[in-house]
Amino acid sequence: MLSRVIGQEIAKKQILNAYRHERLAHAYLIAGDEGLGAEELAVEMARFLLCAKPDRERFEPCRQCANCRKVSEFQHADVHYYFPTLKSTDEETMRDMLQAKANELYTRVYIGGGSIHIGDPDNPEKNSIRGLARETSLRSFEGNKKIFILTYVNEMNDEAANAFLKILEEPPPTTFFFLTATRLHTLLPTIMSRCQVVKLSPVKETDIQNALITEKNIATGEAQLIAKLANGNYGKALELIGGDLNRRRKTMLDFLVASVSPQSTAIVQAVDAIIADTEKDKAAITDILLIMLAWFQDIFYISHLQDHPETLKNSLINHDLTERLEKFVRNFPRTNAETAVFEIEKAVDLISRNVYLNLVLVNLGLNLRHLAIKK
Ligand SMILES: [Zn+2]
Repeated sequence: MLSRVIGQEIAKKQILNAYRHERLAHAYLIAGDEGLGAEELAVEMARFLLCAKPDRERFEPCRQCANCRKVSEFQHADVHYYFPTLKSTDEETMRDMLQAKANELYTRVYIGGGSIHIGDPDNPEKNSIRGLARETSLRSFEGNKKIFILTYVNEMNDEAANAFLKILEEPPPTTFFFLTATRLHTLLPTIMSRCQVVKLSPVKETDIQNALITEKNIATGEAQLIAKLANGNYGKALELIGGDLNRRRKTMLDFLVASVSPQSTAIVQAVDAIIADTEKDKAAITDILLIMLAWFQDIFYISHLQDHPETLKNSLINHDLTERLEKFVRNFPRTNAETAVFEIEKAVDLISRNVYLNLVLVNLGLNLRHLAIKK
């Protein structure tokens, strides 16, 4: 069922049920945080609606016909993808951004500080509401349906939103709108009342993990860690693959090395580095602590599964750092990994309750120093 979108069964069923009963609304507003799949669901629906031979039992576009391919490449003449830009954004930049999204559907296509704006009255640009008004008045090129996807509509200003409302109020026949919004409370209620609202929900951890393994060839242990850190957001999981995970893991290892260092100032310096690297973002610091948790879980496995090498290999989350883990166990053979896990969980909890960040991290470092016992 629209399988390029990870999870979101309820949202998919809401739209597809209407489709099955031939009651597809002419406008849907898909709402949810970035990375949950709002734009992606809109693109999947465009593919499904225009596909030459869709699987109507399983609700999948064929992904091979000319229509599917053109929609996937953002080059279908009847599918228009509008996203926030600045007035100064040139068309080449817009094309590059859509090309990136064609390569990885979950790529964020958005220019910071931009919005879908009203557009020039005489010569309306792409991505503007006046441009949209012109497009909706033209006949479709390749079929009878025209699809307009407008993203981040909650960031449109009132002028653009009101002009768009006029188009929504008199929808051209066989035209479908899929709007996406990251927040509903900043959207004009007049627009909302013209749309079927579809709310997205967090994606199940196992769904994210499976998608990472099958779509991105990520090893099981790493996929498990990323899925946990992604906190129900597939877009965030992809960012973690793209580098955030390795950076955060390095910060975590620096902190661990400092914690077991004989120099008492090392912990304070490592904590300062974490604070600087994360800009005091509690979510980012929590990620680092969860990565540390996975590290001690691995330490626990290595200490307890030495007679079961095959099970051990499949259980390790940081399998790519096996040598480093083994070295840690050799250097600190009497480390109490279970208590370390407990201390880290306590630190995560304190951070969520707004306890002073430096204090929590310095204390954690000192506790780990006591727990990592040399032979
Ligand atoms: Zn197709």
